[in-house]
Amino acid sequence: MSGFVLSEFPRLVIKVGSSLLIDDDGHVHRRWLEGLAEDISILQGNGHEVLIVSSGAIAIGSTVLNINKRRARLEDLQAAAAAGQVQLVYAYQEALRLNGILAAQVLLTPEDTENRRRFLNARGTLEKLLEHSVVPIINENDTVATEEIRYGDNDRLAARVAQMVMADALILLSDVDGLYTADPRSEATAEHIPEIRKITDEVQSIAGETRSDIGSGGMATKVQAARIATHAGCSTVIASGATDRALQALATGGTCTVFRAEGTPAAARKQWLAGVLEVCGELKLDDGAVNALNDGKSLLPVGVVQVVGRFERGDVVALVDAAGNTVGRGLAEYSAEEAGLLAGCRSAEIEARLGYRGRSVMVHRDELVLFGNDR
Ligand code: GLU
Repeated sequence: MSGFVLSEFPRLVIKVGSSLLIDDDGHVHRRWLEGLAEDISILQGNGHEVLIVSSGAIAIGSTVLNINKRRARLEDLQAAAAAGQVQLVYAYQEALRLNGILAAQVLLTPEDTENRRRFLNARGTLEKLLEHSVVPIINENDTVATEEIRYGDNDRLAARVAQMVMADALILLSDVDGLYTADPRSEATAEHIPEIRKITDEVQSIAGETRSDIGSGGMATKVQAARIATHAGCSTVIASGATDRALQALATGGTCTVFRAEGTPAAARKQWLAGVLEVCGELKLDDGAVNALNDGKSLLPVGVVQVVGRFERGDVVALVDAAGNTVGRGLAEYSAEEAGLLAGCRSAEIEARLGYRGRSVMVHRDELVLFGNDR
């Protein structure tokens, strides 16, 4: 037994592999999807937040456009993804709707998770969707991704999403129920590994090249995904989706491999922020703002007295109190120029000062670290 207790992980990113979702004839496996939607509704009822990263666009699109995937070029696959994505998301929308849940489509590229400005945008949108109990259905934006700069596999995309939204667990559902000491399809002696506390090179190497037929991610990409996610404080589970109610099976102790995260997502984010070398500017704060930060709140424009330096949205800035002490640092939601316009301004005045609607916070509480408390 892996000892994985789903209820301990409130925010979940669930990655669905193509082989689960697509029938042998290349169409969406509706009954399976309906089971997943029912499970999601139960999870939401139990207080979980759920994000889905789903593959399948290329598989569905190849069927619809009659493209032979093995001989197809990148542009054929991109066309297939575009034609298939709309059907994929429609299928999710319908299945979720039967359970009274709204779906939203989110298409991402590696830039969106790695460039800090775009990261803040994507993250802000996902947070809002979760606030509205909408289930984001996320996939790679295959239309604009090119060979060199694409994830190519949704296991790693899912890990980046988990890192971005500070998910508590990443669940990789595919046609295998976990990691084995050898490939169970060819080696009768292969043993299932229920739990991994540290991803060593040995773990990475036993993941080898196990591949499933339809999706592009094998066991190796799953272990890479687990490495990214666990570093971000997000435990990662490889579980089989081969049954109709895969999440229910997992919630009731079904077979899986769990990669344990070392700390929490918040601790990992703060550790990362504390370690960033390049600090591009300073926000001088009044006492009220410092108190609010110490109470776990975000930094609002009203608490900013002065803006120093040149920085863009997404850059790291130092947070300085009235006595000149650096109390922490965080990711700026605004560039230095806009932050200057907004310093001391109440939320209701933001639009008038900027000339567009803008965002309510200067530094979000999840994107800042306070030195007194945190290190
Ligand atoms: N983005 C691809 C699709 O939806 C899938 C990539 C993968 O299977 O990992 O078809």
